[in-house]
Amino acid sequence: MPKSFDTVDVIVAKRDGHPLSDDQIAWVVDAYTRGDVADEQMSALAMAILLNGMNRQEIGRWTDAMIASGERMDFTGLSRPTADKHSTGGVGDKITLPLAPLVAACGVAVPQLSGRGLGHTGGTLDKLEAIPGWRADLSYDEMMAQLESVGAVICAAGSTLAPADKKLYALRDVTGTVESIALIATSIMSKKIAEGTGALVLDVKVGSGAFMKDLDHARELATTMVELGTDAGVTTVALLTDMATPLGLTAGNAIEVQESLDVLAGGGPADIVELTLALAREMLAAAGHDDVDPADKLADGSAMDVWRAMIAAQEGDVDADLPKAKESHDVVAPTSGVVGRLDALAVGTAAWRLGAGRARKEDPVQAGAGVVLHAKPGDHVTEGQPLMTLLTDDAGRFARAEEALTDAVDIVDDGEQLERALILDRISR
Ligand code: URA
Repeated sequence: MPKSFDTVDVIVAKRDGHPLSDDQIAWVVDAYTRGDVADEQMSALAMAILLNGMNRQEIGRWTDAMIASGERMDFTGLSRPTADKHSTGGVGDKITLPLAPLVAACGVAVPQLSGRGLGHTGGTLDKLEAIPGWRADLSYDEMMAQLESVGAVICAAGSTLAPADKKLYALRDVTGTVESIALIATSIMSKKIAEGTGALVLDVKVGSGAFMKDLDHARELATTMVELGTDAGVTTVALLTDMATPLGLTAGNAIEVQESLDVLAGGGPADIVELTLALAREMLAAAGHDDVDPADKLADGSAMDVWRAMIAAQEGDVDADLPKAKESHDVVAPTSGVVGRLDALAVGTAAWRLGAGRARKEDPVQAGAGVVLHAKPGDHVTEGQPLMTLLTDDAGRFARAEEALTDAVDIVDDGEQLERALILDRISR
């Protein structure tokens, strides 16, 4: 039982810029999880942390306290090593879908505990739920059995994994305290360490569609998370990747599943293939299994075989047609030239307003809704050519989606070169 404190003293200490002691942190996280610290008090503390930060010692103890609020999983009994990937979230980020079966096809098991989307970034479970029959909720025994037989599982994180984070994240979402590096790092890493993966590759997004808008902040977040993982005995590496423009050509649910299938079939957009392979190589290396080239497993169809087994194991109909939106509307190029900027946040917001995402966690999502892009930065377009197609079941949503796209695209003079690297940096310890 941790030593007890007066909640107001803990809030005032952080408000005045003092570090919190190990005991204060263990107590306040535990007391909040049990309901002894009120939401308004934790909101004040979260705001004080956002404004004044936490040092490395505090961040480590906060992570430990969040892990201690729930159960820890253990995959050491599996016959193969485990590696997981976590993305800090972006628009069109469907990489988990081809990546999990690809890494499993290379001999490393992937336990991917995922969430549903909130706001402009889509959730992996929402995408997979577009597949008729697919089930996100698995028991611990089902998950272990699937990891052993198929090698990959993507399912909902149970309520016993870092429950302190579930409660705190919901509170941060409505109190303007999401964008704290200390709170993001501890939130992500407490779940990943409690999950029990042997190796972890972080995809830290940078740009308009990400939490971290600039490279310096993204680097600080990545470094903090890599240190937390390494200190906890998890081999952890981070890639910093571009999220100024959406990944691939789709942002939505069923349309992102289709794009992932294209990648598993050996095609798909070049940026999705590049990032999937880069993350797969990092996961394999971190798991000590870098003698296999994942590109071969995409090309020979074995990653697709694992996908089919993974979806079927969770009762998804792998051969069923994916849902389609009832209505569509093209947004056309206002002038001829080269696409200079295509803003990720604007496209994510449009997809969300079309029905692909939710504003509150209990809202339903439309499986067929979203945005299909017909041009990306660097592509030539001619006036009147469709730049994107908006999809929804409810035509009344088009106007608000188009509003989100008002300043989303710059078309510049022919000949200007606007290449931006997809992988911006790599952080390891
Ligand atoms: N994802 C999380 O799990 N937690 C955060 O704080 C931000 C993104």
